[in-house]
Amino acid sequence: MKKELYRNIPKIDDLLLQDHVVTLIENNSRNMVLNVCREVLDTIRKEISALEGSDYDLSMATIVSRIERGVQKKNDFHLKRVINGTGVVVHTNLGRSSLAESIREQLIDVSMHYSTLEFDTDNGKRGSRYSHVEDLLCELTGAEAAMVVNNNAAAVMLVLSTLAGGKEVVVSRGQLVEIGGSFRIPEVMKLSGAKLVEVGATNKTHLRDYSAAITEETALLLKVHTSNFKVLGFTQEVSSKDLCALAHGIDLPVYDDLGSGMLIDLSKFGLMKEPTVQECIADGIDVVSFSGDKMLGGPQAGIIVGKKKYIEAMKKNQLTRALRVDKMTLAALEGTLKFYRDELTALDNVPTLKMLTKKYQEISEEACLFASTLGILDNISYRLEDDYSEVGGGSMPLEKLLSKVLVFTHNKIKAQDIIKYLRDYKTSIIGRIKEEEVIIDFRTVSVEEQAVVMEAIRALDKI
Ligand SMILES: *Cc1c(COP(=O)(O)O)cnc(C)c1O
Repeated sequence: MKKELYRNIPKIDDLLLQDHVVTLIENNSRNMVLNVCREVLDTIRKEISALEGSDYDLSMATIVSRIERGVQKKNDFHLKRVINGTGVVVHTNLGRSSLAESIREQLIDVSMHYSTLEFDTDNGKRGSRYSHVEDLLCELTGAEAAMVVNNNAAAVMLVLSTLAGGKEVVVSRGQLVEIGGSFRIPEVMKLSGAKLVEVGATNKTHLRDYSAAITEETALLLKVHTSNFKVLGFTQEVSSKDLCALAHGIDLPVYDDLGSGMLIDLSKFGLMKEPTVQECIADGIDVVSFSGDKMLGGPQAGIIVGKKKYIEAMKKNQLTRALRVDKMTLAALEGTLKFYRDELTALDNVPTLKMLTKKYQEISEEACLFASTLGILDNISYRLEDDYSEVGGGSMPLEKLLSKVLVFTHNKIKAQDIIKYLRDYKTSIIGRIKEEEVIIDFRTVSVEEQAVVMEAIRALDKI
């Protein structure tokens, strides 16, 4: 039976003679259409091979429409906007942080034209690409100097390679973190050429553990913020102040990989207390690095702040050239950082901060308005429920942010297929499934996006 099906699969030359395919070739690259035809035929072969019965639609019309869809898909942007209905605010797979609307023009202006990227308009000479955010970072964090690289993983690499290449770095066993995408501190250490010296136990590390491990070969004491897990119970870490007192007494620097890196203490807004960058600097930490696109809410970047002599050494490291950031990143970062001069301005403008600190009451009101506007539907039943959003990005793993979510089902369509329908909607909507029901968390969906979600649900109801 299957042999028969295989035999009836049209040849590629037959496909190319079909009127619709001829039109596709006229309007698109011939090579691309040809590739799509091959892909479609390939998929058909696979589907037949996996077929249980003998029922398979091999009509030319069906195959041609699959080719048309394939070409359409190739013409669509692959990297495109989505609506994040997951409630995970710093969603790494969905691009972590969305930028503030108010920096749009500045971003476009710098990206679409020539800029002062490495040009000093004061004297008409060559300038430094780091100058655009260095003063601002120093002003905001209290550090002497600053620089920016591609991401925080690159920052870790650069700091270790510059300050400890070929030498020893002392770090607590409780801080040998693996973050998402299997970025592990011990592995990065190896790549950077630094030698890892582990001290203490998983749950407890004392100051005396550090001092006992320091030798002639020691170049750096490293702290890693355990952003994505918590060791609870019988635990102890050495405070930054104590660690700095020990290190500075023997002229060693201390580096803190802060991970997310906050410039605002969000515990004032009901979130967990995390050390801010300013606090680390005030405690005497020599070098601090953190991500631009985690809780800071800016573009992907690795921000390094600290003592001038160390930052200068990093700027001179050859590796820096390979890790440098683009003008678009710098424009987005400068725009984002400027908001932080005033806490309320930052909370008002930076979407990540806005979503993280959004009050339950406000989310609830938006959700209620959504539900009352949606009204009664034919095939979809829905309700509003309390649920929890997450910070995400491996930050504050224990934090549960009370939120209001839309829970719905369709009487003919399974949750899995609804999720796929939403994903394929003209603006892709990403939700989640809980116990065979579809959930959209309102915390991470702006009012403007809620209108799109409503439109999608109404259209789904008519299917
Ligand atoms: C997230 C994180 C990193 C990596 O930062 P990226 O900006 O994703 O490269 C490094 N260290 C810690 C502790 C982190 O949490």
